[in-house]
This record gives sequence, structure tokens and C-alpha cells, in this order.
Amino acid sequence: MSSLLEMSGISKSFDGFQAIKNLSLQIGEPELRAVIGPNGAGKTTFMDIITGKTKPDEGYILFGDDSRSLIGMSESQIAMLGIGRKFQKPTVFEAQTVRENLAMALKNPRGTFSVLFHRKTSEGAARLEKIADEINLTAHLSRPAGELSHGQKQWLEIGMLLAQSPRLLLVDEPAAGMTAHEREHTTDILKKAAETRAVIVVEHDMEFVRRLNCKVTVLHEGSVLAEGSLDHVTSNQTVIDVYLGR
Ligand code: ADP
Repeated sequence: MSSLLEMSGISKSFDGFQAIKNLSLQIGEPELRAVIGPNGAGKTTFMDIITGKTKPDEGYILFGDDSRSLIGMSESQIAMLGIGRKFQKPTVFEAQTVRENLAMALKNPRGTFSVLFHRKTSEGAARLEKIADEINLTAHLSRPAGELSHGQKQWLEIGMLLAQSPRLLLVDEPAAGMTAHEREHTTDILKKAAETRAVIVVEHDMEFVRRLNCKVTVLHEGSVLAEGSLDHVTSNQTVIDVYLGR
């Protein structure tokens, strides 16, 4: 596993309130990482900083084989380097079928779904089938996305992001609002996706994180409080006090 993303000494204040304090973190490629922490810990700001939505006050972020600095890059430049982000609310094209949604993502450059090309290639068709299988939607390819369950829409959006071949995928609370059955499939989908790329999952649901069975980073007051296996971080008394509330 080589290093893909390196954040060091990142700080960010909003009107004098320090939301991120001297945050350092490294992600390998491939790697599955869970980022957990109580409300206000800085999880959203952390993702906003990686994706260029929020500019940090201090620190550096290096990405990729040639360790390019992400500081100062726009959101679209960062997306084009291969950093994809899945927000909590699924945004799929409801009137289009699952197949059309995936085809659109496959035919568009990274970070954009705005331009439609109608170029069909057998390679594209094979990739589409493979992605549909990976996101557990093969049986639903001809259905309008609007007819899918909440969980299935989340999977479709993950598939649309995978179609753009990100090297790093950020996923915000994928299990929220899902049935137990859907949560199980989501674990499989994320584990599979992380076999060939880096995936960071920000999540509250501890059972879900346990099933991901990956390295966990605990954020608290904008800093890394603990890092390691879930058993390791949840045996840390400060983590128990601030996060688990026991
Ligand atoms: P989390 O996602 O872990 O709940 P956030 O990153 O959303 O945490 O927020 C971390 C802290 O920074 C919170 O106290 C929040 O109120 C504050 N914060 C986040 N964004 C802003 C902003 N744009 N302006 C002022 N305060 C903010």
C-alpha cells in the first residue's frame, strides 16, 4: 500500500472558531478508512478541505504519485485529479434508467455530469455491466432511478462515482436511512470499491464501521484523537468519554 494522500498540519478557523486544529493524516492506495467523531468534530470540514470546497489556513495536502499540492486548487481541478465525493443525499437523475445514469457517468469526464455524449463502445458496455454488478443493481438496470429505494439510489450514485475512476472516494454517512439488509450490501460495495482505490467513509453508525473492518481515525475538536483498529480506538478512555458517552 503506497501513500496517496498526505495531509499535514492542517488548520481552519471560521470567525475565530478553530474547526480544524493541526490535523495530519495519511491515506494509502488502496485503502478503506473510516473517519468517526461526535457532532462538531470537524468531519465535514475535513472533507470540504480535501475536495477544495474550504481553503485551510495552514498546512499542506499532497496527492498522487507526484505528490501534487492540492492547496489553492479549485474544486473542479481536484475532482479531475481523481477525488470523488458522495454526499449524504443521493443525487441521481430520477427520470433516467439506472443504465442511463451509469452510461452518463461513464461518458463524462471526472467531476462533471453535464455534457451528454452518445458514443457507444463495447468497452463502455462491459464496464457498465461490471459496475452494475459491483453496486448490486444488475437486476434494476432498466428501471427509472426514481423508482429505486433510498439505499439503491445511494448505490447508484456510488456506481456513478466509480464510473469516473476516482483514486480517492469520500463517502459521507452511506448507511444513514438504510434498512439492515441494505447496510450489509453497502458494506460489501465499499469494501469491494476499496480493493483498487482509496475510500474514506465518514460514519456515525458503529455497527456499520465494525463491519467495514478497516483502520479508523477518530476526530475530536478538529484533531485526530486516536487511530487504528476499531477495537484499538474504542479501548482509548478519551474516545469512550467524548464519543461513546459512556
Ligand atoms: P462535523 O461534520 O464533525 O459535525 P463540522 O466540520 O461540520 O463537524 O464542524 C466543525 C465545527 O466547525 C463545528 O463547531 C461547526 O459549527 C464549525 N463550522 C463548520 N463550518 C462552519 C462555518 N462555515 N462557519 C462557522 N462555523 C463553522
